[in-house]
Amino acid sequence: MTSVSRLKAENITVRYSQVNVLDRMHVEIPDRAFTVIIGPNGSGKSTLIRALSRLLKPNAGQILLDETPLQKQKNRAIAQKLAVLPQGLSAPETITVSELVSRGRTPYQTPLKQWSKDDHKLVEDALAKTGLLQFSDRPVLELSGGQQQRVWIAMVLAQDTDILLLDEPTTFLDLQHQIELLTLIRKLSAEFSKTVVAVLHDINLAARFADHIVAMKNGNVHTSGDPASVITKETIKSVFGLESEVIADPIHGKPYIIPA
Ligand code: ADP
Ligand code: MG
Repeated sequence: MTSVSRLKAENITVRYSQVNVLDRMHVEIPDRAFTVIIGPNGSGKSTLIRALSRLLKPNAGQILLDETPLQKQKNRAIAQKLAVLPQGLSAPETITVSELVSRGRTPYQTPLKQWSKDDHKLVEDALAKTGLLQFSDRPVLELSGGQQQRVWIAMVLAQDTDILLLDEPTTFLDLQHQIELLTLIRKLSAEFSKTVVAVLHDINLAARFADHIVAMKNGNVHTSGDPASVITKETIKSVFGLESEVIADPIHGKPYIIPA
């Protein structure tokens, strides 16, 4: 694990109607690794993703991207470094796969510099990496759930940023498609040096795919570290209130939870 972090939340507090949803939370996202955020519903995972991606401004504390507070950077400059996939997006009715993926290039367009060969190449590249080239001209809404999730991933990939923040990218996918998507996401960090942060619900898949896990509880980090140090009986009990046994997954050797 590298010690530098281009993206950090420094003691951030986010409040909705007097309630601290994030409470002086401090987290550093390891560069060029796959970080998974886990935690019960309502623990603040989406709020953290929104704060890290400047969709939401913390009431206190700050987010640092390359040592500079997000508030001091232009949206366009941030969008060239960091791409976010919020939870539960839905595609406009008639949009095609390549049109949606092309939206990833918006941060690079200006009145003087519109669509270029580079934009085209990056869109094609994102479609190829996600295995969607043959669907380019199809309406997004005609694809299966798993394919649609890949289209959203392709859109953030086309944004060509070093950092990707993905809020529940695997929700509503069957197991096979979750594995397929997580394999792709893992490859983005392992082979293409992306810094990836994803919120996942399945703790066993988190343990299998993540380099680094942040377990959240009540708007703060409960425990963070590599899967072996985070996924323990004690952490699962304290974060999720669940009694379990943790064994070594016989195929990958990663911690594997069996709820009691
Ligand atoms: P998670 O993603 O871990 O399920 P969230 O970050 O979405 O949790 O939400 C954390 C808490 O903040 C929840 O109690 C939720 O009800 C509350 N919350 C989230 N968004 C809003 C909002 N826009 N207005 C008021 N409360 C909110
Ligand atoms: Mg959420």
